[in-house]
Amino acid sequence: MNEEPLRQRIGVYGGTFDPIHNGHLKVAEAISNAFALDRMLFVVSAIPPHKRKQAIGSPFHRLAMAALATAHSPQMFVSTIELESPSRPYTIETLERLRTELQPVRLLFVMGADSFKDVTSWYEYERILSEYDVIVATRPGYRNDENIAANLAPQLQTRVVDLRGGGSPFGAGLTGENIESPHIYLTDYVEVDVSATGIREAVAQGRSVGDLVPPPVASYIEKYKLYRNS
Ligand code: ATP
Repeated sequence: MNEEPLRQRIGVYGGTFDPIHNGHLKVAEAISNAFALDRMLFVVSAIPPHKRKQAIGSPFHRLAMAALATAHSPQMFVSTIELESPSRPYTIETLERLRTELQPVRLLFVMGADSFKDVTSWYEYERILSEYDVIVATRPGYRNDENIAANLAPQLQTRVVDLRGGGSPFGAGLTGENIESPHIYLTDYVEVDVSATGIREAVAQGRSVGDLVPPPVASYIEKYKLYRNS
């Protein structure tokens, strides 16, 4: 029997979210629609290993802004799983925990093209890319025809499904007989030229970020005087 209808499809969007912005939200919405996700979980990270040298906003503020940005949506949720962990978990550990806690579930890990280009430096990245579905969202600066999976080992490259140009995952691996085998989906449903770095810089320079983050997040940044000295 095909057990797929019993398993919820949950997107897992990890990040520092310092702050969460319209790029994250538009990507999440487009991917949720295209992959018919039941839920998208924004997993606010503790200090990621590759960012430890930079100043990072308080986890409480980062979480609060993510919660405000997703409060209106019945499908978008914020997860505290990494912030509550006594150790700073790696992505593979978070995915394993979520899979255990939420089963039966199919987890689809979402990342931007910039993160995917660096993924080979992540702890146990081969397991992330072979045991879980991964959805890569394009980001301005990454050409559409660029082979961003080029530095992966051949057996991982065979998992790549290029949906760029408007392809749908249905019929491209998400259903069918190879259902148990996860894929790496390259997507370009939306291209949003916003980064948290740009937002922190704009706030520090006294510029408005009202068109880069949802209104409650803009108000929150203002109210708590975040990023003024970035
Ligand atoms: P920073 O500028 O501080 O590095 P960021 O804007 O890249 O932050 P993160 O919280 O680090 O945001 O990103 C979390 C995830 O969201 C990463 O996988 C990143 O690639 C992805 N992402 C962030 N912004 C975009 C965007 N505009 N389009 C697509 N993916 C994005």
